[in-house]
Amino acid sequence: MLQMMISKRIGRKQFHFTVQGNNFHETVAEYDRLSFSDVAACGLCGSDNLDLTSRVAQDKFKYTSIRCLDCRADLTFGKTQKDDQTVFLRRREGGELDWRAMDKSDR
Ligand SMILES: [Zn+2]
Repeated sequence: MLQMMISKRIGRKQFHFTVQGNNFHETVAEYDRLSFSDVAACGLCGSDNLDLTSRVAQDKFKYTSIRCLDCRADLTFGKTQKDDQTVFLRRREGGELDWRAMDKSDR
């Protein structure tokens, strides 16, 4: 069994994840599934006061996202269709991260 520790910086916080596999290939494959980039600041207000958050909508849709604690904007992690363990940060067509202002109906 091999383990690998990954650090991700989200705003001013550092998060550590440990992935593991039976061999080097499996361990790197697990690492690939979390291959999103560090996120330094909120795309809307520029704050680095960010956190990770998860929620379940309608009892079935699971969302994980980065939340700006200052303006409540939300950057949701996408999942690939064939493998919901592989996550990436949603981007707009132009390539920039898809930060969304908080939906007023959630307030
Ligand atoms: Zn913000």
